[in-house]
Amino acid sequence: MARRKPDGYLGDKSLSPETLMMGYGYTPAWSEGALKPPIFQTSTFVFENSEAGKSFFSAAYGLREKGENEVQGLIYGRINNPNLEILEDRLTIWDNAEACTVFGSGMAAITTTLLTFLRPGDVLLHSNPLYGGTDHFIRHVLRDFGITQVEFTGADSREMIEHRLESANARGRLSMIYIETPGNPTNALIDIEMCSEIARDYSTDSKRAILAVDNTFLGPVYQHPIDHGADLVLYSATKYIGGHSDLLAGACLGSANLLQQVRAMRAFLGTMADAWTGWLILRSLETLKIRMEAQTQVATHIARYLAEHPKIARVYYLGFLTERDHDYAIYQKQCLGPGSMISFDIRGGEAECFRFLDALEIVKLAVSLGGTESLAEHPFSMTHCDVNDADKLDFGISPSLVRMSIGIENPDDIIADLDQALAAV
Ligand SMILES: *Cc1c(COP(=O)(O)O)cnc(C)c1O
Repeated sequence: MARRKPDGYLGDKSLSPETLMMGYGYTPAWSEGALKPPIFQTSTFVFENSEAGKSFFSAAYGLREKGENEVQGLIYGRINNPNLEILEDRLTIWDNAEACTVFGSGMAAITTTLLTFLRPGDVLLHSNPLYGGTDHFIRHVLRDFGITQVEFTGADSREMIEHRLESANARGRLSMIYIETPGNPTNALIDIEMCSEIARDYSTDSKRAILAVDNTFLGPVYQHPIDHGADLVLYSATKYIGGHSDLLAGACLGSANLLQQVRAMRAFLGTMADAWTGWLILRSLETLKIRMEAQTQVATHIARYLAEHPKIARVYYLGFLTERDHDYAIYQKQCLGPGSMISFDIRGGEAECFRFLDALEIVKLAVSLGGTESLAEHPFSMTHCDVNDADKLDFGISPSLVRMSIGIENPDDIIADLDQALAAV
């Protein structure tokens, strides 16, 4: 099969991402005319002859320069697989990235990427709050590997952040800035462009600081970090990209040069996704835009309902930001829509939240997000239980906070469910 990347154009007209989600990266002629790619359920690939095997390996290990239009030959399932390659090509579209590598989970994507670019003695600057798994990996695993962490929140000024970097003696040692925006679970925003300027200022001729953005909450439809100066975009594809709460996967996107390094680390750690997952995500991508748009529409109704409920003290929803809010200018600059994650404080504390969560009938009590069904959870005791209490309170994660991921159900039904559950509080 002669793999050639399709170009995404009709004559001179560049095609929209939602159009390209139906077939970009795949040509039916490769597979007996099959409209959809078959699942390449195989661990290894047969070489046409020994010279071909030798040539594939020398290219894969970077022992020789690849030819201008040379496509990496298929070798072994830990290195590459057609389902993953088609998915990787297709995922580059939304973020306008040169390259993509997919993983067996969001954490596989995040940890593999951090391990690709950090070495003992390096400084890692990261935003707070972070996804619980990422937070744990940075605080406990990377610290033991001799990586110094410097932290900031959306409320800190650039001067404050640079002051902390100077105190940590980061000049020449800052390897990576890692941010999550909107932050989980409060939807706090971090200015991507400001972070890219810090990365540039702290880069030296011999060491470039890389900006990586976890884009799981709004991407890939409502936020494109590369357009704002990010070097790498990370996803838990388990969430909106997969979108049906039936698979785990992750992705890292960026320049061909950086992704080649991430891909090499993936091959050695063995953190790739499998062919079946790759195939399922190709199916998910066809409806990605309409799902995210529908979820956002339902979320807007629900956020309005919650904001007016007497038992709710505060709602954190990007659609409610106004000029008076600190995050408004950042939202205007880098977000294309409010998405469908809503958090809110119930009057009371853990007991009131638990009564509410336990009374829900349509909305399921589960972690994860971005699927077609609505889910609710209690960040303080569940997803963020491992973050110390003082930090949690500092980040706005109090015992009275509930996080909801909104699906594509009829909003009136969800509101009826919330109404009866709030009545039980
Ligand atoms: C879920 C999530 C992750 C981790 O992804 P997994 O697929 O569960 O490994 C990372 N970042 C964010 C923002 C997430 O929501």
